Amino acid sequence: MKIIIIGGVAGGASCAARLRRLDENAEIIMVERGPHVSYANCGLPYYVGGSIEEESSLLVATEQMFHAVYNVDARTSCEVVGIDSQQKTVELKNQISGETSTESYDKLVLSPGAAPIRPPLPGIDLPGIFSVRTVADAVDIRKWLERDIDRSVGNAFTGVDSGWESKRAVVVGGGFIGLEMVENLVERGLSVTLIEKLNQVMPPLDTEMARLVERYLAKHNVKVELNDGVAGFRKADTGLEVLTETGKALPADIVIMAIGVKPETALAKMAGIEIGERGGIRVDDHMVTSNPDILAVGDAVEVKDFVTGQYSLIPLAGPANRQGRIAADVIAGRDARFRGTQGTSICKLFDATIAQTGVSEKTLKRLGETDYEKVYIYPNSHAGYYPGAKILVIKLLFRQSDGKVLGAQVLGEDGVPKRIDSFAMAIQAGFTIYDLEESELSYAPPYGSAKDPVNFAGMAAANVLRGDMPLVHWDAIGDGFLLDVRNPVELDVETVPGAINIPLPQLRARLEELPRDKEINVFCRSAQRSYYATRILLQNGFKVRNISGSMLSRSHRAD
Ligand code: FAD
Repeated sequence: MKIIIIGGVAGGASCAARLRRLDENAEIIMVERGPHVSYANCGLPYYVGGSIEEESSLLVATEQMFHAVYNVDARTSCEVVGIDSQQKTVELKNQISGETSTESYDKLVLSPGAAPIRPPLPGIDLPGIFSVRTVADAVDIRKWLERDIDRSVGNAFTGVDSGWESKRAVVVGGGFIGLEMVENLVERGLSVTLIEKLNQVMPPLDTEMARLVERYLAKHNVKVELNDGVAGFRKADTGLEVLTETGKALPADIVIMAIGVKPETALAKMAGIEIGERGGIRVDDHMVTSNPDILAVGDAVEVKDFVTGQYSLIPLAGPANRQGRIAADVIAGRDARFRGTQGTSICKLFDATIAQTGVSEKTLKRLGETDYEKVYIYPNSHAGYYPGAKILVIKLLFRQSDGKVLGAQVLGEDGVPKRIDSFAMAIQAGFTIYDLEESELSYAPPYGSAKDPVNFAGMAAANVLRGDMPLVHWDAIGDGFLLDVRNPVELDVETVPGAINIPLPQLRARLEELPRDKEINVFCRSAQRSYYATRILLQNGFKVRNISGSMLSRSHRAD
């Protein structure tokens, strides 16, 4: 059998290597229009920032390695410029010599990825405006930064202590690539402004969680402009100006465009295969397109959201790699299926980590879903008595009717990956919050607590569904009765207008001060003491609700 794979990076390279492991006799041609196969696009921001020093470190595998180890005919600088799906041939163009040739196939795999969106705005082609997709992009950005800084700051990459003003970067788009670029440009000593058209950064997060990210960016002197889009660019006396839709002119020595990616579907259209409503190639769960001899994987395809069952575009390396492997299995005659994707993702931002898996609350709302509940918890990342513990912020979404885990968002400066991956596995396995309560997770003081934050999230959620802890959120309290069970010293920091303060240790002795004809909404700092108060009040016949996340969730409300 002869297989041609278009695209030699995440999905394509995975497919080629797996296919060879399954079939020693297949003829495999992997065609890549760029100069490198299997490069680390996820590492590009860190090459710009300098934590990855050498360009060669970005090259995970080479064309030669594909020849020698996998016996794959890997061809770089070679673009597929045509597909004839009737004749089952592709037309190849050598990018260096310009020569064209034709190859036939038995099976064709498309893994052409997604291209950064570059709208046709005035001035978009001015020098100094970059996208980040390939090794060449990252090299160009680094060269531009070096040249720029050499010219006027003089103290290359050591930062702003040269007595010159630091260089200015504008990053357009606050998704994970935008945020990673922000971090790496700040690390290089640039002063950075981030523009985001939405009302929040990191769109997969719910807005109130994103507020914490925006606060964190401000702490690192990153200026964040929300609710504003780019209208164009123009040359200024020094550098560029980024013109925004609200009329601002932001000075910049470099601009990074990171407003999202668009599936590369030109070849698919040429082959006459179906494109889905989200603009990606439509495939079944075997990664087979509407043409049974053409499979497609990676950023170019639409996938089913594991939780909602809806088609979506999730341009992430994990799904691309798994899909490449599945396509190989299917070509080799195995019954492999892609289960869908949960959008599990993680992003480093200075010392913090931002991660999410499964569905967000805004997606649930968009779908008109009402059968869900959420809890916010703020546990320590590990035992408080062991040095270095940091507060984690966890939002857990679950189905009200059966407790099924729907989604989780985790932020913090320690211990985020362990928790998000536990939640991700729970969603894959179809776990409920009751399973989270019971999950046996690794524990020693430097890593966690005997009740891990994941268990703890499950317990808080299960308390709600079992009726042990009636719950309310700040936006649903209205003018209800507010009971603050914090200690008086905590009130010096912040109070909530209209709240009555009875510290938890005094509560049992002061029950007569509380109304029996009204629902009491109780809070503390993190909702733990208010949970204890809720239990006391419930058992004394009061109508009571614990305010989820209490003062901590109040501090990052969406509005
Ligand atoms: P790609 O890996 O983009 O490969 C497609 C290849 O096909 C390209 O090299 C292209 O040149 C080639 N090609 C296209 N058309 C043709 C043609 N006609 N002929 C020949 N070749 C062609 N994901 C994560 O999960 N975590 C991360 O931390 C992360 N960080 C990222 C950081 C950056 C800066 C970028 C750009 C992406 C990041 N991603 C990350 C996303 C991840 O890299 C992609 O989801 C993944 O690479 C998609 O794999 P793919 O095979 O679909 O496409």
